[in-house]
This record gives sequence, structure tokens and C-alpha cells, in this order.
Amino acid sequence: MSESQETLSNLLQETRRFPPPAELAESANVTAAAYEEAAADRLGFWAAQAERLSWSRPWDEVLDWSNPPFAKWFVGGELNVAYNCVDRHVEAGLGAKVAYHWEGEPGDSRTLTYADLKREVSKAANALLELGVRKGDRVAIYLPMIPELPISMLACARIGATHSVVFGGFSADALRTRIDDAQARVVITADGGFRRGKPSSLKPTVDQAVADAPSVEHVLVVRRTGEDVAETERDVWWEDLVERQSDQHTPEPVDAEHPLYILYTSGTTGKPKGILHTSGGYLTQTAYTHWAVFDLKPERDVYWCSADIGWVTGHSYIVYGPLANGATSVIYEGTPDTPNRGRWWDVIQKYKVTIFYTAPTAIRTCMKWGADIPARYDLSSLRILGSVGEPINPEAYVWYRETIGASRTPVVDTWWQTETGSIMISPLPGVTAGKPGAAMRPLPGIVADVVDDQGRSVPNGGGGFLVVKEPWPSMLRTIWGDDERYVKTYWSRFDGMYFAGDGAKKDDDGDLWLLGRVDDVMLVSGHNISTTEVESALVSHPKVAEAAVVGATDPVTGQAIVAFVIPRGEAGEEVEGEAFLKELRDHVARTLGPIAKPRQILIVAELPKTRSGKIMRRLLRDVAENRSIGDVSTLADSTVMDLISAKLPEAKSDD
Ligand code: ATP
Ligand code: MG
Repeated sequence: MSESQETLSNLLQETRRFPPPAELAESANVTAAAYEEAAADRLGFWAAQAERLSWSRPWDEVLDWSNPPFAKWFVGGELNVAYNCVDRHVEAGLGAKVAYHWEGEPGDSRTLTYADLKREVSKAANALLELGVRKGDRVAIYLPMIPELPISMLACARIGATHSVVFGGFSADALRTRIDDAQARVVITADGGFRRGKPSSLKPTVDQAVADAPSVEHVLVVRRTGEDVAETERDVWWEDLVERQSDQHTPEPVDAEHPLYILYTSGTTGKPKGILHTSGGYLTQTAYTHWAVFDLKPERDVYWCSADIGWVTGHSYIVYGPLANGATSVIYEGTPDTPNRGRWWDVIQKYKVTIFYTAPTAIRTCMKWGADIPARYDLSSLRILGSVGEPINPEAYVWYRETIGASRTPVVDTWWQTETGSIMISPLPGVTAGKPGAAMRPLPGIVADVVDDQGRSVPNGGGGFLVVKEPWPSMLRTIWGDDERYVKTYWSRFDGMYFAGDGAKKDDDGDLWLLGRVDDVMLVSGHNISTTEVESALVSHPKVAEAAVVGATDPVTGQAIVAFVIPRGEAGEEVEGEAFLKELRDHVARTLGPIAKPRQILIVAELPKTRSGKIMRRLLRDVAENRSIGDVSTLADSTVMDLISAKLPEAKSDD
């Protein structure tokens, strides 16, 4: 095997274990038996999960995989997604149950029961019909985190329209390309939302975007901030149109494979892809995983996922999964540091949140701010913590468990993607003895593996490419309008396997650890080294809050490791000095071995992140290799790159 074909090195050793709390294990929704049951009869297992939903016509066949990679799940079945998320709970006598506690950034709040939600969604569905939207049409949604966002999504689902939610932080250009790609007939937006204590406008961006988007016939505008907005002929106010509609509407059953939504990936690696999700399989797996991974007890849990609904995490785990399960959720409009850095913990205390689901980037930010902030709040209601979006470094995992979870709560590190629609690899909180930093095992019913470059399963202790070997219900069906790109992007690297783009390793017990994108892997003196392991080693130093590493061309070693490090708030002045940089390099060498020692470390104040909070290493690689910076259109804050580039000439290396 040539050097470049070597699978990923396995450097990080982690021995801490956190078994499930006894009382959680005793009453857990899922026990270890589920793995065997699903392995013995995978399709039977998923058919049983589909029975969680209410079908207006039963399916004839669980899976049609006769034309791979184009899957059909629950063939011939019919259902309505909004009916399953709303009406059936009201019919079951749960109309008075809270679906959403909504918390506005300025401190205003709204409570929506399932009965309220049914009325609001019905009115919005009738409004869309009045605007001429029909089954199969596309509707773009560009809203802040206000109740009208899930209401609009469910209204689309109710009439069989396909929604395309575009994150409210995107530019007019990004919005227009997404509207165009989907040929949306209607755009739903707001005057603006509140962010960092101020109104932040959205409507002007929409005006710019639709000015040359000929598919758009109407723009439906929610009043949120009350700021003045320019009006055009296409505009209609939510308060005028939706409020006068009847709150009665009969949901339209659709085929299990009817398109529910299009969602663009977050664009960490390049140009976003319009991922298509359909109805029956998607809702089955989001409902099952939300119930299983968070051990959801809908009668008593208060669940909060802090993601933006504009990302897949919000689609699956704020809207569809929790509502299908009849859960009570929290939605928060704003940023974690408004009016102060305790806002999230205040929300948890206020609503007595029991399950909290967030991203490693947020956890590391809270670490940087200091443990004394959450210590001021009563977080004793929490019983399960979740993480998604990036590999969680062991240090961040342990901090999360100890500081937020009072050392009691299991942490579930959930691996999945926009493309997978739902969680695929994760501990089960009542079953798994968690390892900090490991996503552990594929969920029951999911067949995932780590393979070498020939597609052969790697042995325990080895690293390689993460693949999914059997279709799963919430899998993407295609890239919108581009079947060829779908096949090429996901199904051409390994025969008959879905390749996710991520690297992973199996430890000696066969448990899975995510190692970051394979595109980011560094080839140093013939060893493939994952960015995740070096970053984790850096973050395990007590003075480091965040780190990103990339491989830069090096005349001696092929590639050399360049690290960008954000020190913790309490680290003090010395972090700029040469002694500190040496200390960090030695720390990495001690933790992972000399091969992983960074050639260069740059101390920075921020890292370039996508708007979903993921580190964009490709831009750092441009800096490290002195190239001009690539596409920054999905970057959250474009000034960050200037600050980092300015740092480069002063960076020094020892040895
Ligand atoms: P694009 O595909 O456009 O570059 P993206 O991959 O960032 O964007 P998402 O679908 O939001 O868009 O992110 C999925 C990716 O996030 C995964 O492929 C993986 O790299 C990373 N990820 C998500 N959860 C985890 C996790 N628990 N551990 C490790 N990595 C994770
Ligand atoms: Mg991706």
C-alpha cells in the first residue's frame, strides 16, 4: 500500500468511561436488545418504527432498493406529516399540552399548545392555498427563530408543498440562488428578528433577492420587529392574510415518497448542495431517533435544541422529530450572550429543561467564558445532554458533562448530516457506557462501517473512511434537480456504499470515533493524521479554549501541521510568548507522539466558522499556504479572515 493510501493513524488514547445512571438505565426507552432485534430483521425493525406514525394508507413494501442509489421507503403508503406532528396529538386528548415554549431575545415569550399549533398551521395552510400554492409547489422560508417558522413549515407539509428554509443570516445572493434552484413560488419572511439586543432586518434582503427571481409570485411578511419596511406589489402581510383565514383545514395525505423539503448543506467544504428529503421514511427515523437517543419521555420532559431551524438539526430535532413524538420543546430566538453570557442557562432554569442539545462550538465558547457563569443558575432539571455538528473533543465533552450536567447527565455525541436526515451514530443514554469524544455505535437499524481505500472494513484499532452500507429511512433521495451529482458525490467512491466524506476510527472495542473530513486529513512524513486528534490534544491543554489545525505543504515532511489556537479567557498575558507556543507543541507531542507536533502555532482571537458554527479549515489552509482566500460566502463573519491573515508573518516555529 502506498503512503497516500495508508488509512488514518490512531493516535489519541482516552480511557475515561461514563456508564449510564442506574435509574435512567432501568426505565430507558431503548435497551441493548434493540441492536440485536434490528440486526436480525432490519426492515422489520424499521416497519415497527413506522407504526409510531399514523398512516392514511398502509404501505405495501418497506423498502424498494431495486434502483440504487434511489431508495423508496414505505412504498405505496400515504400520510400527512403535519397531521402526524399536530392533529393526531390533539385528537388523542393532548390539545392543552405545550408544543413550544418560545422565548424571544428581548424577553417576550409565547406558549403554543398542540391545539394552538393546529389552529395556526391550518390558518397558514389556508393562506398558502389562497396565494395559489398547490401540492408539489416549492415555498422558500427566510425567517428568524419565531413561531411562524415551524408554523410555515408545517403549513407547507399540510398541503403537500415542499419547503426550502434558508437560514436568516444568509445574503441576498445566497437566498436568490436557493430560490432559483428550487423555483419557489412564494417566499415567507419577516420584517426582521432580534439579534444581540437589536432588530436585525430581513425584508430588504428578500427584496433584493426576489428582484430578479421570476419564479416568486408572492412574499408573505410576518411583523416581528415593527420596523418600517419598503413594500412592493408582491408583498402581503401575514397579519392581513393569515389572521383572517379559517382555522379549519383538512390535511392532504401524500405519498410516503412525496418531497417534504429541500435543504442546502452548510457549505463547510464547498458549494452547498440542495438535499431532498421525503415524507414517510424521514418522519419515521426522526421520530424514532429523537425518542431513542434522548430517551424522550414526552409526558414529562422539556426538550431544548439550541440549533437554528435553518439547519438540518433544527428541521429534524426542533420541528419534525419532537412534534411527531408529542414533545414539549423550547425555542429561543437570539444569541447566547444577550443580554449577558448567562442567557442559555437562564432559559434552562426558567423552563426546567431536562434535555439539552447543542454544538461543540457553543460548548467551547462557554468554556472560554468560564464555568462561573453557568454556576449561577439552577440547572438541576437537566438529565441528558447532546452534541452535534463537529467532533466533540474529550475536554469539551467532560466540561459539558461536569459543568452543565453536574457530573450526572450522560452526554450523547450524535453523528449525522443534512444528507442522512436523522442521527445515525450515537450512544444510547440508558445503554452505552460513554467515552468522551466517541460517537460509539451505529443506532439500531443503521449499518455503518469504517473502510480502507479499497472499501474493506478496517480492523479494530484502525482508521479510514466512514461509510453507510445499507439504505436508511431518512436518507436523502437526491440532490434537487441533479440526480447525476447525487450519484457522483455520495455513491461513486465505494461500490454500493454511501460515503459520507468523514474519516473515522474504530477503537479496540470497535467503538467509532469521528476524525473530521477526509479532505482535511494531513499527510505528515507518510502518516495520515486527522485534524480532530491534534485539535483535541491542543484543547486538552488547560489554557486552550479552541483550536483548528490544517496541513500546509512542507519541503521536508510533505505536509506540516499548522495550528490556530484561541486561549481561554483566564489564560492571561503569557499566551503571546514563545515559551507558551513551545509548551503547546510539547503538550501535543506528549499526548499524541512527536509526529503530531505542529510546525507552527498561531494565537488568534477567532476562527473562521460557517454560519452553522463549524470551523472552515479550507480557508485556514489558504492562509497557511499563503494563497488568496477561497469562497467565503458561507462564512459567518468575513472580517475574521483578515485578522488571521494579518497574524501570519509574525508566526514562528521552533525546531
Ligand atoms: P457541506 O457538505 O456543504 O460542506 P456540511 O457538511 O458542514 O456542509 P452539514 O450537513 O450541516 O453540512 O454537516 C454534516 C457534517 O458535520 C458531517 O459530515 C460531519 O463532518 C460533521 N458532524 C456532524 N455531527 C458530528 C459529530 N457528532 N461528530 C463529528 N462530526 C460531526
Ligand atoms: Mg457535508
